[in-house]
Amino acid sequence: MYLNNRTRCPDDILEKLMVAAGRAVGAKTTKAWVNVNMSKTNRTRGTAEDVSRCRRLRGKKNGRLRRSRWASVAGAFNLTIPNPDYVKPEDVGKHAEIIFNLVMHEFAHVREYQIGRHKFEWSHRQNGRRPKWKRRPEEIRAEDTVYEAMLKIEKGKIKDPKPLVQALADWYASQMNEKTNIWLRHRKVKEDYNEAKSQDDQVPQERMQAAV
Ligand SMILES: [Zn+2]
Repeated sequence: MYLNNRTRCPDDILEKLMVAAGRAVGAKTTKAWVNVNMSKTNRTRGTAEDVSRCRRLRGKKNGRLRRSRWASVAGAFNLTIPNPDYVKPEDVGKHAEIIFNLVMHEFAHVREYQIGRHKFEWSHRQNGRRPKWKRRPEEIRAEDTVYEAMLKIEKGKIKDPKPLVQALADWYASQMNEKTNIWLRHRKVKEDYNEAKSQDDQVPQERMQAAV
């Protein structure tokens, strides 16, 4: 897999997670191309495209620029993962799971490109206005593929990806910074305010008692 990682998250964690997700839905991960970006919010999103031609390969590996070369790619997608500064500390596990499910969904699209897109029905080939996301045939198929993969994981037919998802959640947990995380900052401001308020409340009572 060609992983173009533009986030702070280590390549190792992302790559293992993606290979597991891709295999779960039956895609060939070796020639897939993945760009990973970091969101400016806690959103996760992705878009897959059919890239079966040759493309110039660039990007960083092991901290230094990789030599440009031509690589044949079969299926690609862009993925945006949440910025740890916008993630609630108690929600790291939930976000890691969302990311894993989305990667499975994108690989479900990549799988169809690898099989050959002429074999399937596509929303842009239909007559009339392009349907909403929920009603597009390619999205319904992708959701079905993900659902089947999840059933297989539940039944134990595929190796459980939980440790890999947990590794991503742990990385998010390690990025919780009191100075930059908005939730932690918000809570601290609230705490300070309540503390100051309770002190203010206490002072008059003491004075009252002294006066009595
Ligand atoms: Zn989709």
